[in-house]
Amino acid sequence: MNISTTGVKRIPKSMTWAAVSFVFFVFLFSGCTAQQAVKTTTTQPADIVSSVGVTDQLPSDKAIETVVAEAYAKFKTNQDGKNADYIKALAEVDSKLFGITVVTADGRIFDIGDVQSEFSIQSISKVFTYARIMQEHGHAAVKEKIGVNATGLPFNSMMAVEMIPERTVNPFVNAGAIASTSLVTADDSNARWETIKSNMDAFAGRTLSFNEKVYDSEVNDNLGNQALSKRLQAYGRIYSDPLEATTVYTKQCSVNVTSHDLAVMGAALANGGVNPVTKKKVIDANHPPYILAVMATAGLYDNAGSWLYETGTPAKSGVGGGILAVVPGKLAIGVFAPPLDSYGNSVRGQLAAAYIINTLGLNSFAPGKQ
Ligand code: GLN
Repeated sequence: MNISTTGVKRIPKSMTWAAVSFVFFVFLFSGCTAQQAVKTTTTQPADIVSSVGVTDQLPSDKAIETVVAEAYAKFKTNQDGKNADYIKALAEVDSKLFGITVVTADGRIFDIGDVQSEFSIQSISKVFTYARIMQEHGHAAVKEKIGVNATGLPFNSMMAVEMIPERTVNPFVNAGAIASTSLVTADDSNARWETIKSNMDAFAGRTLSFNEKVYDSEVNDNLGNQALSKRLQAYGRIYSDPLEATTVYTKQCSVNVTSHDLAVMGAALANGGVNPVTKKKVIDANHPPYILAVMATAGLYDNAGSWLYETGTPAKSGVGGGILAVVPGKLAIGVFAPPLDSYGNSVRGQLAAAYIINTLGLNSFAPGKQ
């Protein structure tokens, strides 16, 4: 199926002065007061999109540019929340950084703010390791081996492991995430890491860098995660050496991304498993709905209910300050803003993503409504 481009104003990739003026006038006439302009990048539509990929009525360039600039201006000065400090290197990240990127399922990119600032992906990596094990083992096996239910407890909870019959609970809390890492098919630790990293690179469409400082500050300090992995071993719910899996999991959390990368990675899930920028298939089209379902129930941990109530949209956060929201068939939003709320979710990330989703009428439970 070819993507319809009807009604979407396309701006050439190399921005000419005419295009710059166009963007300027779009802002002027939309009454936008943002200081900073949204940079729009266009890629050619993918040739083949799966049946669960792009749906009709994608928001226009103008609508997205306006709402992204508004979200940036509205929340830029919000100082609520606090950087994570249980991983020491995260406490040192500049709390004021703020970047927002939207990537549509047909490959249009909208960037504003600190979209080139790299930060550790942390728990958002869990989405892509989950994608990998689903691709390797199928969704039914992964459901049985990991679980999909919300805990209503913090992401690093040992109590959840004790209370919930599946033990691993779901792939987006630490216990289930370490078990997911252990489920990646590999002969040894290095091979497991290589597979996880190259899978993340494919989703991002580039070779992501590694944050040594974050890794060093977590790898010997992650006693809680080591304990979770050993407890899972006692229950027979981890699938390689527990401490080896914990170390590889800590490595995957230390991969650097930008808000731009997050949105590209999420857009592949919005687009039925095809990265809309590189046009490469990164996962079979039948898997993203299962991944997005777990993002909806557990992506924001014990705040997942409130988030879903406000937005009707699957999302995943990381304690590095990143947040990724995915509107199936439409677009993905990546935000970077380090200060977190008490659940470990980026404050400005949630505000900006929720604003964009609701202003564009993208709540899945109320399509078209604002
Ligand atoms: N590496 C972090 C941890 O294991 C990831 C947690 C998160 O982002 N919520 O604690």
